[in-house]
Amino acid sequence: MSSETSNQNSSGIIPLHVPEIGGNEWNYLKDCLDTAWVSSVGAYVDRFETAVARRAGREYGIATTTGTAALHTALMVAGIGEGDEVLVPAMTFIASANAVRYTRARPVFLDVDPVTWQLDPEILNGFLKSCARDGSGAVINKDTGGRVRAIMPVHILGHPADMDPIMELADSYDLIVIEDAAEGMGALYRGNPVGSTGHMACFSFNGNKIITTGGGGMIVTDDQQWAERARHLTTQAKSHPTEYEHDEVGYNYRLTNLQAALGCAQMERLDDYVQRKRDIACRYGELLKGIPGIEPMEEAPWATSTFWMYTVRIGADEYGTDSRTLMKYLAAREIMSRPLWKPMHLVKANMLFLGEPCPVSETLYRECLSIPCSVGLTDDQQNRVVDALLERRGKR
Ligand SMILES: *Cc1c(COP(=O)(O)O)cnc(C)c1O
Repeated sequence: MSSETSNQNSSGIIPLHVPEIGGNEWNYLKDCLDTAWVSSVGAYVDRFETAVARRAGREYGIATTTGTAALHTALMVAGIGEGDEVLVPAMTFIASANAVRYTRARPVFLDVDPVTWQLDPEILNGFLKSCARDGSGAVINKDTGGRVRAIMPVHILGHPADMDPIMELADSYDLIVIEDAAEGMGALYRGNPVGSTGHMACFSFNGNKIITTGGGGMIVTDDQQWAERARHLTTQAKSHPTEYEHDEVGYNYRLTNLQAALGCAQMERLDDYVQRKRDIACRYGELLKGIPGIEPMEEAPWATSTFWMYTVRIGADEYGTDSRTLMKYLAAREIMSRPLWKPMHLVKANMLFLGEPCPVSETLYRECLSIPCSVGLTDDQQNRVVDALLERRGKR
């Protein structure tokens, strides 16, 4: 679906979120095609890596095929493997947990903050306090005997996680912090870009993210050795410039120049996209304020959210119906909406990883609904969404 056909009219389907292609995408792609620099090396890859790293306040950027591949690589670079545990918020997309499992480490799911919906530092603190230290100082999960090695805060929906207390805890327990910043590109935490705080951070440029390369990801870090290792692992661990010598099992996780060309064009527009999304969020906030049963999305005082996804909470009792019935009602009016992810500890794929209950994540899962918030959303379309939300209210 092109943004022209999907975004212009006040009638017709209102998608949840579609990419915005309106800058130099065609020019840069044509340049790749004209010069036949289409594959996994090229000037756009370098340019894109530099642009994203700089934007995240980092020294190094290593582009990858997907955000999931970036997370997998970052975990490998951190030396995470069998017998290790990684602390992951329960309210996230499955990719965060899957990346941990690719390394044979065990994800431990912790609950999120009820206001920001991000990893709750209090709960993190409580969990770490419950751990033991072995003779070598390793942090041991008393329930499983596993070594807790890393924390993966996830900046969901464009809102940053509360990084300061997370970094303090990581420091005192010697844990590595890998930010899952797949949804956080362009957001600020206490004035600093998301992705600038952890030991490494990973972005995604999938079609549904705030900027897209069709599919893609990137690891950013300030550590030169880690950056080199990430590049090595993502290029089949080739250890000789001309001979096919490989010193370990590597991966083909490289982004193509074609994709990076799109990324360069998208990065040029990022500030506009963020501003537009913040305007959309502000307008939703005003139009939905004070309506019983609908809680507009919040922004912590220390956060500058991109509102990448605009998500409301539907209190079934006050609103008159639950989020899933509302989703169907909106669909019948050609308005797309989506629930949040099933919490990680309840997903069948993670059944082996029983942990503490995560009541906040479970409530958010039940109550939240993301509503249309494409960069190209028109005021007319937004009015249609709000009107539908008001119409359905009170009907059981
Ligand atoms: C999209 C996403 C990913 C994975 O990115 P892909 O590029 O789709 O592999 C990881 N974590 C979160 C939170 C995401 O939203």
